[in-house]
Amino acid sequence: MDFERFFEDKLDELKQAGNYRYFADLERRAGHFPRALHHGETGSRDVTVWCSNDYLGQGQNPLVLAAMEDALQECGAGAGGTRNISGTTHHHVLLERELADWHGKEAALLFTSGYISNWATLGTLAAKLPDCLVLSDANNHASMIEGIRHSRAEYKIFKHNDPADLERLLAEADPARPKLVAFESVYSMDGDIAPIAQICDVAERYGAMTYLDEVHAVGMYGPRGAGIAEREGLSHRLTVIEGTLGKAVGVVGGYIAASAKLVDFIRSFSSGFIFTTAIPPAIAAGAAESIRYLKKHSNERDGQKEQVAYLRQKLDRAGIPHMENESHIVPVMIGNAEKCRRLGDWLLERHGIYVQPINYPTVPKGTERLRFTPSPCHSHADIDALVDALADLWGQCALAHVAKAA
Ligand SMILES: *Cc1c(COP(=O)(O)O)cnc(C)c1O
Repeated sequence: MDFERFFEDKLDELKQAGNYRYFADLERRAGHFPRALHHGETGSRDVTVWCSNDYLGQGQNPLVLAAMEDALQECGAGAGGTRNISGTTHHHVLLERELADWHGKEAALLFTSGYISNWATLGTLAAKLPDCLVLSDANNHASMIEGIRHSRAEYKIFKHNDPADLERLLAEADPARPKLVAFESVYSMDGDIAPIAQICDVAERYGAMTYLDEVHAVGMYGPRGAGIAEREGLSHRLTVIEGTLGKAVGVVGGYIAASAKLVDFIRSFSSGFIFTTAIPPAIAAGAAESIRYLKKHSNERDGQKEQVAYLRQKLDRAGIPHMENESHIVPVMIGNAEKCRRLGDWLLERHGIYVQPINYPTVPKGTERLRFTPSPCHSHADIDALVDALADLWGQCALAHVAKAA
């Protein structure tokens, strides 16, 4: 077989469908977020980033940087091993304590990423619980789906954010079977939020475990920034809370928080935890410092909410349709892969605005969008410039307006 030819053909198909992924070559500038240097074909220049998941700018928080620099000088570059073989440094232990406290759980366990924490934990629980049945929200992230599939346990998909549909599936299952309900709090593409209390009500009625991915909510919601479950006083009702250190926390890594026994179980049986090098101590130190900060300060969260409200108001005034939700994610719907890509290109080339077009398979075909994540680092002037640019390009892409707000 001509392998190279095969790869090329498959890539051509993607390009033809407008779904080929082009990466923007960026240098983020600490101290100047959301500004970054973009290295393009025609040279390098400053752009404003509008699609970062470093939602609060913690990636440039001087306290986080100082903690990382200190740990780097003290402990060196890498962890030097898996957690089991010399890779558990004191920084890992402290970070896990910080995480358990954040979510009001007995224990926490670190992974190399949020993706791996979902894949490994769901994969291990569903595989090891005898004859486990997994109930999975229709919009769950790829990492959860892959973990569930990998377990080879039976799984059923309930309608997105629909406790009644979940109840229907639980009611028809054998009452004796162990059951696991997996869902997210903030869904990152539509920005909608799960009815966590109702899902817990249903799960509890049928004796099911609950697994909540709070990846887009940690750092962002609740008095100490621990997420939607904290905000709604529900942390104690969830069996497992999963999060990332790579988004609002500003660094990298993933984790679960749960009972001491569940955490020890995953620590002891999960291949995706055991057989991989621990994250560097400097990363652990930076994440712990970031979380300590987020527990005590809400001004970043407040500033972030204010910028979201301001962006939505400006979009309304310009008659640019955006999807309503109660989170920090502002999706502007385009509904066409080609136009979505072209808008993204033009924003970058003509206006120095970087927002990555979101196309299939990340979202269903026909719902292609630009997904804006305003941060406390964006100014009103940044938002004004963005909406002016969008308004300018909107007509050129023959996109429909909605009635303009007063
Ligand atoms: C980004 C994301 C993850 C993966 O987290 P990483 O730390 O980036 O690997 C998991 N779940 C959801 C819903 C995500 O959006």
